[in-house]
Amino acid sequence: MVTVFILLINDPWLINHPNSMPELREHTSKNIIKVSDLILQIPTRWNEEKIHQLFQDNSAAQILNTYLPDAEDNIEDQLLWKPHPNGTFSCKSFIKTLKMNQRSSSSVYNDTFPWKNMWNIKDITPNILVFIWRIIHEGLAIFQNLGKHIKGINQDCRLCSTAIEDLEHIFFHCPVTTTTFFGSPLGCRTERYSGMSCKQIIAGWLAEKGNYEAFKMGSCVMWAMWKNRNDKVFNGKNNSIQSIIREAIYWFHYSSSMLPEDELQAHITTLRKAAGKWKPPEDNWIKLNVDVAFDNYKAGWAVVARDSATSFKGCGTNSHEVLSPIEAETRVVLLATDFTVISRLQRVIIESDAEEVIKILNEEKGYIPWILRELIYQIRAKARKVTEVKFVFNKRDWNVVSHTLAKYALSHHSNMWWFS
Ligand SMILES: [Zn+2]
Repeated sequence: MVTVFILLINDPWLINHPNSMPELREHTSKNIIKVSDLILQIPTRWNEEKIHQLFQDNSAAQILNTYLPDAEDNIEDQLLWKPHPNGTFSCKSFIKTLKMNQRSSSSVYNDTFPWKNMWNIKDITPNILVFIWRIIHEGLAIFQNLGKHIKGINQDCRLCSTAIEDLEHIFFHCPVTTTTFFGSPLGCRTERYSGMSCKQIIAGWLAEKGNYEAFKMGSCVMWAMWKNRNDKVFNGKNNSIQSIIREAIYWFHYSSSMLPEDELQAHITTLRKAAGKWKPPEDNWIKLNVDVAFDNYKAGWAVVARDSATSFKGCGTNSHEVLSPIEAETRVVLLATDFTVISRLQRVIIESDAEEVIKILNEEKGYIPWILRELIYQIRAKARKVTEVKFVFNKRDWNVVSHTLAKYALSHHSNMWWFS
């Protein structure tokens, strides 16, 4: 009989009781641990005395009302799957139960998420609003969710392989996402969102109200990221950052094409303001942000290029064995000058957080440590091919995207270019 194995306290067994668990009296002895301990044999019957001792009156009455089959009934005890009417487990009823659980949890979200504000936004396509709704209800088939139901599935992010693919990673912290957000008209540094859930971040965008610019652009970027992720997972395609941003901008304009021209202009101005502390270069200049990640004589470095309209113009990464961090910090400036020459740029600002390297580059006749001499000469030779190059020092705080990419290059031995 199954009752031999059913635990009195932990297993749901009293079918018509709320939660199927009868309530124990306070300070009940814990010696009786299985349902079978409550049953006397020949004839098979409930041990009334024990049941009254152990359980509150209500529960005791319900137990005693439960029919106990005896040997003559020839009925095997059976485990019941309560969500299905006949008690047998089926995949269909399992999925139905999952959906019902999701629906019931939406009442919790309703309390805290500004759904009304979101559904009232008119100048965005409904498919993107529904997509955001799915994200918040955890309705996307990301690998972390699949891993809850399928044992042994690889849950790594397929874009970077450096983290588990959860919502926050794929939409805010993957190196590909970080670069896309920074390169998008939002110009947003997603590290400011660390520790926040997707739902909190999106609710934050909606709290800005006004024209909901941040929400609209942000959700278009997320939509484009999701399409890109699926392209990689299902078709093995590696899309460029530039094409992901183009896709996001397409949906943003598609959404706002219903607006009159002056309102559209107001949108763009607000987006520029949202670009925050990062200063775009003047017209006709390109700014190249560079950064390095160094670990035990190996380094990865990266350059990210943007123009005066804060549009993303490309990026590149490289990794190498180096003798010191300063060597890597110099090599990344060389990478930036390579980028400048290959892209035929004429006026560039190379912005780095390596104060010493920038100082060396700006002092034409200053002292150059021997270890950097060869590299500095190469940088100067390349810079001479360009109309104007400025080397500028800036704190890392404003340089997060190139730093994320540099770390990515270090962990992936990555050597690649993305051009606009
Ligand atoms: Zn990733």
